[in-house]
Order: sequence, then C-alpha cells, then structure tokens
Amino acid sequence: MPPRKTCITYHEKFIQHDFGINHPFRGNRYTRAMEYFERKGLFNLPNIVLVKPEPIEKEILFKVHSKDYVDYIFRLAELNEPYDMDTPTSKSIIEALMYIIGGVIKAGEAVFKGEFERAAALGGGSHHAGRDYGGGFCLFNDIAILIEYLREKFNVKRFLVLDYDAHAGNGTSDIYYSDPTVLFISIHQDPLTIYPGRGFISEIGSGEGIGYNVNIPLPMRTGEEAYLYALKEIFLPLAGEFKPEIIIANGGSDSHFADHLGSLGLTAKGFFKIARLIGQVSDEVCWGRAVLLIGSGYNIQVLPYGWYALIAGIAELNISEEDIEDYYPAPQNPWQNINEVKRIVKELKSILAAYWSCFR
Ligand SMILES: [Zn+2]
Repeated sequence: MPPRKTCITYHEKFIQHDFGINHPFRGNRYTRAMEYFERKGLFNLPNIVLVKPEPIEKEILFKVHSKDYVDYIFRLAELNEPYDMDTPTSKSIIEALMYIIGGVIKAGEAVFKGEFERAAALGGGSHHAGRDYGGGFCLFNDIAILIEYLREKFNVKRFLVLDYDAHAGNGTSDIYYSDPTVLFISIHQDPLTIYPGRGFISEIGSGEGIGYNVNIPLPMRTGEEAYLYALKEIFLPLAGEFKPEIIIANGGSDSHFADHLGSLGLTAKGFFKIARLIGQVSDEVCWGRAVLLIGSGYNIQVLPYGWYALIAGIAELNISEEDIEDYYPAPQNPWQNINEVKRIVKELKSILAAYWSCFR
C-alpha cells in the first residue's frame, strides 16, 4: 500500500526558531530532522509532499491572543528582550514563528479541504501559550490559532485536540476550559514532577465545557506499554463518543526515555504507535482527518528519529514498527509503572463518567 496522502510543512526560515546557546531549544532541530528525513528517502515516496508555507499576517494572532499581548511580544522582540527566563524573543524568532504558524494553518486547511488526508506541521504545538501569556518556550498558541481559523473558515463545530507532549498543555487547556466544542485530552508526565505544574485529573473544564478537558498525568518513568494503555483507555472511547470533525495532535519527541527535559519512557517505536493510533481513530471518527504539530524534543540525537517515527505513523508508510530506528537501544528493563497507571486511568474514568456515557 502506498502511504496516505500527507503534507509536511517546513521552511528554511524555521531554523531562526532558535533560543540561543545554552538553551535546550535550538534551531538545528529542524535541519537535523530534515537531514534524517532526506536520508530515509521520505520525500521520494509517493503521496508524501513537502509544502513550503507562507508566513501569516500578524492579525491572524488576534484570533486567539489579545492585541495588548501580541503588541507586547512584538515590542519585546524589537528590543531583543526575553518574555521570561525560558522564553526569549527577537525579530528573527518572531519571523520564524510567522512561517511556522503559516505551516500549521496550511496543514490543517489542506486536511480539512481534502487536499491531503494527513498532515504534519514541523515546529507547531506551542501549547504553553494562553490568550494573554506565554512561557515554556511558547509565545503564540498555534493549536488554538488553527482551531479558530478552521472554525471561522469552514464552520467546524467539534475539534479533538490530543496533546501527547511530555508537558501538560496548560495554554490550550486554559483557552478552551469552558468550551464544549473543543475536547482537549492531554497525556503527560505527572505535573508534580515537571513544568508547568498543571494538568491534574481534577482539571476537567468548567461551565459548558465541563467534562471536555481531560488530563492523563503519568508518573515519571512510565514505560511504553503503560503509556499506550492509558492512551487507548481514554482517547479511543472519548473520540468515539465525541465524534470530532478533525483531530489535531501535538507533541514532538520529549516523551522519549532519553530526553533531557522529560522523564517518560517512550522509544521511537512508541511514537510510531501513537501516530498510527491517531490515524486509525481519525479513520473511524472523522474521515481520516488528522494533523500532527511536531515541535518538541530536547535530546537532539533522538529528535530526528522521534519526529520521523511520528510522520511514518501518521502517513502510514509501508513499514512495521521493527523498521523504526532509534538513536539509543531500547532500555533492557523498560520502565513501566503499569499498576499506578491503571489506578490513575480508573480514577479518571470515574470522574469523567458523569459527563461521558462510555465510562459508565
Ligand atoms: Zn514538552
């Protein structure tokens, strides 16, 4: 079988998305990933199309962010001043972000219009940015910008966001906390042990959006099997009951066992399985419309393998998990924590049962 018709958005300008020496977020993530993709012959495969995005206009940011916040970030960038200790700004970074968000919109629009079945937008997934704040390497929430773009242009009524980044997506969560049109599911490392200290199972949304904010916090050293167990137990039934019109998923390679910022236990094969699962669910519930926003990863050796595995999974390349390479051999005694994960899943289901019949 040929791969699914998949668009991958990338532009040479992305390399300017670089937070400087001694920062874990460097612009070489893009070039290193692209070099590996080329080496694997990704762009020679049928149905895989590399798309160079146009930059967005500043006004697009106002779909999600307040004018005051956007103007503030642009002023900081003029002065080369950081937003906070972790999150620098500069004109060059902002220019890169305009291209990256252009890619995210292009990817989502192409899938929604049916030009492509699947899409992967490199550099997307700035999930720590809220309407009026940034942080955690994020300035503008491209996930929400895509949602608002699709809502306005195509009148989309139901979005499912699956945030599989190692960190909880607090910005996305805040933006949609009382909005029942966006089912937000975040699977991440226990917030007691990692930035941003948010994403507990008790955070379930408010007002009309109660029950539409779902957090799956996993203990440090959760292994692949336990991770996938939790994902399947929560994401699959919810997607089936919610019936989104599109699945937007975000996360790069920071759930890998060798990542320098995260302490979860996935391998590159795990990323392949996650992306395959997202693709399968999208076939079942939303005509195969699935978009991955792939940006994180803080072990530059691992990152190209993790990102490739995600793309291979979502594009359904004609390979098996055995063909997925990793930079490091898989740990001999993979971390698991299955019993603790089962307990968390059970507790979460009992909380969500009030809002979802699939858990009753
Ligand atoms: Zn992360």
